[in-house]
Amino acid sequence: MRGTEPESVVENSSTPIPVAGPWITEREIEYVADAARNAWFSNHYEYNRRFEETFAAYVGAKYAVSLPHCTAAIHLSLAAAGVGPGDEVIVPDVTWIASVAPVVYVGATPIFADIRNDTWCIDHVSVESAITTRTKAIIGVDLYGSMANWTELRRIADRHGLLLIEDAAEALGSEYGGRKAGSHGDTGVFSFHGSKTLTTGEGGMLVTNDDHLHQRVMTLRDHGRPPGDKLFLNTEVGFKYKMSALQAAFGLAQIERVEELITKKREIFSWYRQALEGVEGITLNAEPQGTLNSYWMVTVIPDTSFGVDKFALMDAFRKRKIDTRPFFSPLSSLPAFADRPESSAHMPAQPVGEVIARHGINLPSGYHMTKEKVRTVCTTLREVLSGAS
Ligand SMILES: *Cc1c(COP(=O)(O)O)cnc(C)c1O
Repeated sequence: MRGTEPESVVENSSTPIPVAGPWITEREIEYVADAARNAWFSNHYEYNRRFEETFAAYVGAKYAVSLPHCTAAIHLSLAAAGVGPGDEVIVPDVTWIASVAPVVYVGATPIFADIRNDTWCIDHVSVESAITTRTKAIIGVDLYGSMANWTELRRIADRHGLLLIEDAAEALGSEYGGRKAGSHGDTGVFSFHGSKTLTTGEGGMLVTNDDHLHQRVMTLRDHGRPPGDKLFLNTEVGFKYKMSALQAAFGLAQIERVEELITKKREIFSWYRQALEGVEGITLNAEPQGTLNSYWMVTVIPDTSFGVDKFALMDAFRKRKIDTRPFFSPLSSLPAFADRPESSAHMPAQPVGEVIARHGINLPSGYHMTKEKVRTVCTTLREVLSGAS
């Protein structure tokens, strides 16, 4: 049986240092075993209810709805607000594709905005210049744990009457202006994929304070059955987006340990910052005044002057048995969006995001990391960069 130390997570020593990984204790295993035995009949939603209540209280939201993944949470946010064909949704050009794919699911057009140099999150100036009469929503993403400028995004959304979605999939536990990530939009969405700060294997959560949006989400995520319907008289065609009790049991154990999880993430980042002190020409995740960063993924951006792109950097790490990830490539550069030039119509000629995304990589940031492993990674980074310059 596993102990409670993150080091005890089973790792195959012949594999590289993995880039991400969970922290699982006896609590998760016990809750899931209990759910397997007891979460049936009138108890079938008990673990979901407890997970949702604990999660909502942590984030500071009125409602939390457990879902099969974060992609569903974004899809439901858009569908619940009635975003559809002919509408435009402004999104950051640099994010995981899941932030944006649901815009296409509902038949609306994603409109890319540039990101900022410091936080790597959507630039409100770029958002403002992308607004048209067709704009219906803005999706802000708290990238790699960093917080977007929610004061400005809220101001823009209110002035133009837009839905504001906070994609906090990578930022559980981060804060902006004293309020938790996920509490700044009309809906906030989270992912519990195995690589994320809190995991249920696969899973997601939608939080909101809005009674109407909550009601719409509850109906749409259950094939158009309003909550409490026992007669199977569907009022509309919806989706099937529910989290199983087994996943919810796992998630409850994780959210009960959330302080310990966030503390560990911040500790891993502090090891990196220490070990990389004095290395010239690199930028790490930012934590501007008035924010707290839960550092989902420790990310390093070497200056352009090193002349090394992210894929070459990843290759050098791979040869030394260290697994890394590329900074997300701009969506506007992906084959997936090649047939949508309208999505890039408002992008600046020389986007900030393009430079960052060309050079950045995520370093191993999972709960298996120790101070020693961090030192190994940082020694490798120093070597690779001095060889490159
Ligand atoms: C992981 C992630 C998602 C998607 O989460 P899933 O649970 O895999 O659907 C969405 N947005 C961002 C920014 C993510 O990192």
